Amino acid sequence: MAKNPQEERVFHGSPVSRGIAFGPLHVSARGFSAPDVYAISEEEIPLEKERLQAAFKRTRQQLSELKERIDKIADGDEGLVFEAHGMVLDDPSLLKKVEQSIEERKQNAEYCFYAIMQTFLEGMRRISDPYLRERTIDIEDVSQRVLRNFQAKLDILLPDHQHLLVAHDLTPSDTASMDRSKLLGFVTEAGSVNSHTAILARALGIPAIVGLENVVLETTTLAPAILDGYSGKFIIYPSEKTTEYYQALAARKKEAREDLEKLRDRESTTLDGRHITLSANIEFVDELDLVAETRAEGVGLFRTEFYLLESRRTRSEADQTTTYTELAQKTHPHLTIIRTLDSGGDKLSTEPLTEPEPNPFLGWRGIRVSLDRPEFFKEQLRAILRASAHGKIGLMFPFISGLSEVRACKALIKECMVELDQEGSSYDPKLQIGAMIEIPSAALIAEEIAREVDFFSIGTNDLIQYTLAVDRINNNVAKLYRSSHPSVIRLIKMTTDAARDAKIWTGICGELAADLNLTPLLLGLGVDELSVGPRELPAVRKALLSLDYAKCQKLAQEALSLPTSAEVFELSRAAALEAYGDLIAESE
Ligand code: PEP
Ligand code: MG
Repeated sequence: MAKNPQEERVFHGSPVSRGIAFGPLHVSARGFSAPDVYAISEEEIPLEKERLQAAFKRTRQQLSELKERIDKIADGDEGLVFEAHGMVLDDPSLLKKVEQSIEERKQNAEYCFYAIMQTFLEGMRRISDPYLRERTIDIEDVSQRVLRNFQAKLDILLPDHQHLLVAHDLTPSDTASMDRSKLLGFVTEAGSVNSHTAILARALGIPAIVGLENVVLETTTLAPAILDGYSGKFIIYPSEKTTEYYQALAARKKEAREDLEKLRDRESTTLDGRHITLSANIEFVDELDLVAETRAEGVGLFRTEFYLLESRRTRSEADQTTTYTELAQKTHPHLTIIRTLDSGGDKLSTEPLTEPEPNPFLGWRGIRVSLDRPEFFKEQLRAILRASAHGKIGLMFPFISGLSEVRACKALIKECMVELDQEGSSYDPKLQIGAMIEIPSAALIAEEIAREVDFFSIGTNDLIQYTLAVDRINNNVAKLYRSSHPSVIRLIKMTTDAARDAKIWTGICGELAADLNLTPLLLGLGVDELSVGPRELPAVRKALLSLDYAKCQKLAQEALSLPTSAEVFELSRAAALEAYGDLIAESE
């Protein structure tokens, strides 16, 4: 390489979860683990051979792209390693051997390939020649690449020590299943601020940066690094000076957090006396302790999909009843809003589809899945209803696009109530029922929906995505994902107006609720509740305590007449800076 490989190097990406982390890297591109094995029929043999050839082809293509990229940035022979990897696959006897094994063992192609490579590698590891032993790493690498190419999912193998993870991309389930005691932070090449992976990182308090180009290729496992989840800087081989700077910064941020904690017993009420319910979003039941510490006024959103589908274990109705009851009891006397399953989109799905959906965000997601699977849906509804006998529960439906879905949900709730009556189980017949407003069609008919429910919770993560036609997880269009777009704020206003007229309340549970630059605007638009990640809650409380509602109302009125997102943003940011400039500075 042209540069000294151990010289300090800085990568820049989009920060998605605040915090500063120091640690050795683990670059997730290595490892060789066994794929699932399953039997195939005689007729399926040609198909398995085709899958094998396709995986080889994709791997060769990736390797030649990698070689090209390396050749561009290095002036030596470094790219040749990928050529060598490709040669492993060019050996015609390998393909033949695996094909033969598929025919004889009648097992899936990836397993046959794995078994052959594993035997080969074991033989190689016994050779005493150090050069040949080194080559096992290359063979492992290419084998793992082939295995990954049989499937879209990233296969993550994590080390047993504390580390900063470097990966091309992480799925929400990868993130949800990580060992939090070992993972100090992560950086990825793909991803975006509003993906569920990023939301989970924030929930788990794991500092994270996304959108770091080529970071997998250009970093090495065990290299020392610093991750700055405030600015989006990722520094490998930091100098002593840089390390000292970040140690001091981390100490300052800690102090600022402790200062905020001092306000935790204050009611979230504006200077002129308007109370805003400040509640917490959670994805895991074990976050409840943190929720209690921050003195959140309840749970504004429990995303049940991670709990329901984690590790693909199915939760029985009894299991669900226990969990929801625990939630209700622990959050008492405050409200806990349980959102029914929102699978699909970029999240885990309830069942494997026979074909991948071409547009998952416009596909079989949220309430659509639940209404198509009433038996499964009713298990969740009955469990939530039973829990409502032990505390204050709100039941909320995701991904509502029209009135008929709300009515269908309510009819199922009624059926469940009758069933519970028959079995003699108690529940709160007056539990609050809410609709998420996260599809523009729902905001546009908020007036009609308001007559059917007790509250609205605006899911701005999706509302922005669907209003602006900007995929929330695609970093290429991240700059178009504008929370302050005039269309979005008008839809929020339509929703709060409809709610006020129908005498119901409106909250926001999307990530926007924690955007301190826009707190004056949201307050002025008339929301009654903000539900944010527990780690973000103390800062939002301070913002609310520093604002004047009457001024924010005027600001919102002006914002509604502005034609561009930039103007709306600047207007609100100026008010935020005036009211709590120090807080904004600390968060950046
Ligand atoms: C939203 O869309 O804003 C929301 C809170 O739901 P999710 O992020 O789970 O889609
Ligand atoms: Mg949503």
